[in-house]
Amino acid sequence: MRRPVPFELHQPRAVATACELKHQLPQKSFFLAGGTDLVIAVKERGLSPDSLIDLKRIPDLAGVAEDTDGSLTIGALTTLAEIESSATIVARYPFLAQAAGEVGSLQIRNRATIGGNIANASPSADTIPSLMALNASLRISDGANQRSSTLEDFLLGPGQTALRDGEILTAVVIPPTDARLRGEFIKLSPRQVMDLAVVGVAVTLVTDERSRVEAAAIALGAVAPTPIRAGAAEGHLLGRVLDDDLAEAAGAIGADECSPIDDVRSSAEYRRVMVRVLIKRALLNAAARAPGPIPWRQRGRKRH
Ligand SMILES: Cc1cc2nc3c(=O)[nH]c(=O)nc-3n(C[C@H](O)[C@H](O)[C@H](O)COP(=O)(O)OP(=O)(O)OC[C@H]3O[C@@H](n4cnc5c(N)ncnc54)[C@H](O)[C@@H]3O)c2cc1C
Repeated sequence: MRRPVPFELHQPRAVATACELKHQLPQKSFFLAGGTDLVIAVKERGLSPDSLIDLKRIPDLAGVAEDTDGSLTIGALTTLAEIESSATIVARYPFLAQAAGEVGSLQIRNRATIGGNIANASPSADTIPSLMALNASLRISDGANQRSSTLEDFLLGPGQTALRDGEILTAVVIPPTDARLRGEFIKLSPRQVMDLAVVGVAVTLVTDERSRVEAAAIALGAVAPTPIRAGAAEGHLLGRVLDDDLAEAAGAIGADECSPIDDVRSSAEYRRVMVRVLIKRALLNAAARAPGPIPWRQRGRKRH
């Protein structure tokens, strides 16, 4: 671990000031949220910023709010610990609370933000698959104007996003969902805690009383340059009765849709096999899921 070279720290109190600073300051200035990726990059990966612009003192960028139309807005500066324990998120989307709760350690989650998890654009970021499976969109501001983006358009590759210089990710918006929606997130990693995903699978499902699939979303992490939706596998589910064979078939189709690589954590072949296995498991688990929080001992296990 190297000692960082001195840098300036700015602590603006408004989005517009932060964006303005980013334009005024030299090239090597970065927005700082929880710092759990950025500080590691400075200390271990040779990043030497001239200045950091701390976003944590800007009011209104954090918190979880239910809107009157049923959508949910999560401020970009909301910590993963807050998301893990938010009564609203635990009640409506327990798999998203679980995904936030699977990041690093409690100390990390107390600092790390959902905006940082997305803007860092790691293929294995734990919160992104669940957000993708919920069709979440991103709110982005340049200080004067706001725009909105899908996660698919925002994430361009490992560490690369569609954020333009001076733009801040301000919030994640989950659109209204069917009251019958159920979901599941499974993180596969060699160690149970403090490890990055080798494969991450999130699914959401809406079925009728005879288990016929009315809506399905499947999102995969750590098996392509960015988290992806498995659109063909989703399409195969629609209108069919969800049973073992259908979940198996969706898993096989989803495995063909990803493009995993060999790296220190896993071979590409193992990742592809586990995508097949975990899509099937996630679909059947989601279908069998009782409402409410997901206890640790049930995470990723077969429950059907
Ligand atoms: C020990 C350890 C374990 C970890 N384990 C996991 C894990 O299991 N799963 C996982 O997914 N991640 C893990 N991480 C990575 C990290 O904790 C998360 O990615 C975290 O959510 C990053 O959020 P942050 O607020 O700390 O971001 P920061 O480090 O502050 O920022 C990350 C990047 O995003 C940019 N950025 C941040 N917020 C914004 C914004 N609002 N607008 C525009 N740009 C922004 C920054 O400029 C920077 O480039 C781990 C990290 C550590 C150190």
